[in-house]
Amino acid sequence: MLLGRGFYISILDGMSKKYNVILIGIDALRADHLGCYGYPRPTSPNIDALANKGLCFENCFSQAPNTAPSFMSIMTSRYPSYHGVIDNIHPKGGTSRMYVLDEGIPTIAQIVKRNGYSTAAFTDGANVWDEMGFGRGFDYYSMNWEFRRLIRPAGGSILTGEILYWLKEHSRDNFFLFFHTYAVHTPWFAPQNFRGLYGEGVDTVMVPPPPITIYSKPKWAEPYLHFLHQVQDAKTLECYVNSYDGALRYVDDFIGKLVEFLDETKLLERTIIIFTSDHGEEFSEHGGLGHHQFYSELLHVPLIIKSPHFQEAQNVPHLVRSIDIFPTILELLGIKIGFPVHGVSLVPSLKKDADLVAAAEAEFLGWAVQAKDAKYICHQQKGSSRELYDLNTDPKETKNIADANPGKAAAMSEMRERELGRPALSLP
Ligand SMILES: [Zn+2]
Repeated sequence: MLLGRGFYISILDGMSKKYNVILIGIDALRADHLGCYGYPRPTSPNIDALANKGLCFENCFSQAPNTAPSFMSIMTSRYPSYHGVIDNIHPKGGTSRMYVLDEGIPTIAQIVKRNGYSTAAFTDGANVWDEMGFGRGFDYYSMNWEFRRLIRPAGGSILTGEILYWLKEHSRDNFFLFFHTYAVHTPWFAPQNFRGLYGEGVDTVMVPPPPITIYSKPKWAEPYLHFLHQVQDAKTLECYVNSYDGALRYVDDFIGKLVEFLDETKLLERTIIIFTSDHGEEFSEHGGLGHHQFYSELLHVPLIIKSPHFQEAQNVPHLVRSIDIFPTILELLGIKIGFPVHGVSLVPSLKKDADLVAAAEAEFLGWAVQAKDAKYICHQQKGSSRELYDLNTDPKETKNIADANPGKAAAMSEMRERELGRPALSLP
């Protein structure tokens, strides 16, 4: 579908050597807005360069269309109903309701820490709040409250001194660093220097809203929120996309600076970089804005792995999942997992399609399951209505064929049950 690069056989080199890991999770970044995934706009030269030197997984699907469940699946290699963080934080009667990771389920940060790694996370907080379980295993967990990184008046870089300082301090350790940002998340306001790069955007025609916390959506924010969630005419949608792409260029700038720093400090040659996101973003392809459904624009996420283990760049066309990141990292580090997880290491899939099945689920929204050729969705909010799509003939999921194919629909439903029940999960 994408790049004209050759399909090289990768060579694994010295699994037992100790490597560092930088896991980058760009919140709400859909894969198809990156050049390396076929987007025509120049939104991602630095991310494309990373993909051109590493593994680019063309078909990676996340396990939830919302932040907390999806990132927790990345961190634990379990589906949301198994790790228990089945929804984001929600306001409830002046306080908030929050799901917390089961104490018995280890995170990847805990595993690498037990293996002698220094660990740190630099996040925008909110739905990757440390107390939900995201903080477990991290020596240091930074949260930038209230989307402060989101709306930057001057257009500086999200590569803050804090991150560079930590990397310099730990350059002689083996380290695991997690970076997360809401920079391309709603309300799609790029920093000043990145506004208008792709034409008129919501950020060039509106005054940026003050930060909105996850706990309160004050009166003054209502006109803005109405604008954001109700107006879906073609011109406004174009404005949203233009702003989103500008914000993405800002994230790309960060990736460029980070890689440059790692190169200059010689850290690049012993660091595994994983670039991904928790879910995509919908611009009314299926009637919604933001991320509350199970269609491809929401579950198809980028997955790029640049690692000293792989001597040649490679595009991997097989279906893979966010839950596979955890076992893949551990295999590359030469660390045995020793307990059951839902994901599998992607290293063998570089040579052979493992025929994986990707499920996704979110409390109050429903669930989806997909294999290579078909996708099946159960919408909890639409009276448990079912949708079946033939991905070979209808990759954009426009023609629901569930009623005409009850046998296939039933088979997909069973496929989901098998997938969630595999393997027999027990606590370590
Ligand atoms: Zn998110």
